[in-house]
Amino acid sequence: MTSTIILPEDAWLRSFRRRLGAWFDRHGKDLPWRRRNDAYSVWISEVMLQQTQVAAVCGYFERFLQAFPTVDDLARAKEEQVLRLWEGLGYYRRARQLHQTAKILIEKHGGEFSRDLDAVRRLPGIGRYTAGAILSIAYDIAQPILEANTIRVHTRLLGYEGDPHSAAGQKLLWSMAEAVLPQKRPGRLNQALMELGREVCKSRNPLCERCPVVSLCLAVQRGLQDRIPRSKAKPIIEEVHEAAVVIRRNGRVLLMKRGDGGRWAGLWDFPRFPLDAEHPSARRKELIDGVRRLTGIKIIPGDLLKTLRHGVTRFRITLDCFAAEYVSDTDNEMPVETRWVRASKLDEYPLSTTGRRIAQMIS
Ligand code: SF4
Repeated sequence: MTSTIILPEDAWLRSFRRRLGAWFDRHGKDLPWRRRNDAYSVWISEVMLQQTQVAAVCGYFERFLQAFPTVDDLARAKEEQVLRLWEGLGYYRRARQLHQTAKILIEKHGGEFSRDLDAVRRLPGIGRYTAGAILSIAYDIAQPILEANTIRVHTRLLGYEGDPHSAAGQKLLWSMAEAVLPQKRPGRLNQALMELGREVCKSRNPLCERCPVVSLCLAVQRGLQDRIPRSKAKPIIEEVHEAAVVIRRNGRVLLMKRGDGGRWAGLWDFPRFPLDAEHPSARRKELIDGVRRLTGIKIIPGDLLKTLRHGVTRFRITLDCFAAEYVSDTDNEMPVETRWVRASKLDEYPLSTTGRRIAQMIS
């Protein structure tokens, strides 16, 4: 289908830039990162906005910038401080890579981003989209961007009925993202495109009657705005049953640090593992074995405190939270870091979302 799509001509592009730019000047939202618009705040906000809605990001962004106003402050921070401020945003790898990149910027690049796209893209956690956003918004360098909102806008403007995530779709959409950019103030146009996608060209029921570029949109001309972009196949949901164990010892509870590579790497959590057994006696053994395997600690399992239900990517997790009493350590050296923490101090640790709910329940 790509072969039938032709990129717009100059007159179309000029009209598009003029209409969209004027609309953004009138309707662009006052967002916290737009008040500074420097490379550091563009970078932090764009990383936070990956997979997360603007409304949820605003508070996180302000707290983060208050704690780490400059790239130097971020580079000097402890990873735990960074993760604590990221807690609840999810996709914690983003926070760890942000921290890593801050250190690289300070150690090797004088605390600044290069103006070269490929050099920026070599930094941890920065892809073509984030690099394009930093360079265009902070430095007004004409680099295109393509993310969920702009993919939707361009797909509809072009009336593209193919898969926007296929190689052919991506090639076409990056070309379109490049074609629409003016040499003057490209950052303003990139921000306007994202805002149009978020506020007007919504995935369901786009508000075409309010759209500044409706007269240029092929999807509307063909009545296809509700059918494109093609929706992705829904992932198959998998049910998972797990246990979390609150082990007490002399007024403290046991936390373990989640290892690299797994879910919630770098965060602290209550010992947590899959739970298979239905029968109480088999379940008791499973709790004893699970805690010992993870932490090397012997316990006496207690009552079920609460059952929490939550989702992570395609998994729907039922988490049974149990109380337990510490009995003894084993001699085995364990690969995970553990810590006995007073309930009143749990607030100082970055925890998984369910870890925080358990901490609030026992505090
Ligand atoms: Fe999106 Fe409708 Fe505007 Fe086309 S006219 S870009 S479908 S909001």
